[in-house]
Amino acid sequence: MSDVLATANAPKPTVPVRDPDGRALTPCSPEKAASNVADGLADLRDGVLHLRYRPLAYRRVFRRVLARDGLTCAWCGEPGSTLDHVIPVSYGGQAAVDNCVVACRACNHMRHNVLPSRFMAATGYEPTHPLILRVLAHETALVSATRRQLARRTVDTCRSKEEAQVWVDSRQPGATVPALSTEPQWSTRRRTKGTVLEPYVP
Ligand SMILES: [Zn+2]
Repeated sequence: MSDVLATANAPKPTVPVRDPDGRALTPCSPEKAASNVADGLADLRDGVLHLRYRPLAYRRVFRRVLARDGLTCAWCGEPGSTLDHVIPVSYGGQAAVDNCVVACRACNHMRHNVLPSRFMAATGYEPTHPLILRVLAHETALVSATRRQLARRTVDTCRSKEEAQVWVDSRQPGATVPALSTEPQWSTRRRTKGTVLEPYVP
């Protein structure tokens, strides 16, 4: 019995973790370290896991977006507390204050990586958040621009594991980014037609 307890109480092996700036983060399990290395998100050198992206930058963005938007979902207006990328990460959208809004868990989950216009056509939501309106007005151009940025950037500018994973995947041979929606987007066209939206400044 005492052997069993001793085994259960023995400290689990951990791997020290550092971000690209050398900042020490919470240590992780050897299994997690191995999976990060296998996914191309980190390098293991001298027993230390060196992340190739900056997860703390994501938290800073989240705090600033929460401070700006409060705890209200930008899509449906219900209480919300998750960070939603207006241009999805898989399209090259970044975890930046000018690409993120607060969303409820249901909207965030339901939208997944769908572009704002398609999500609105599917749900009938008419968000009034200036950031979403700005993206809607220039969706195709903005998505093209974020894809170009994704091609130019380096992995250590990624602010979350999700972003870094998209970056790594986009560099695999034969990688494709999601195609732009070809479905009719009548609801957004009609709403934004003739409207000139000021550039959104957070
Ligand atoms: Zn919502």
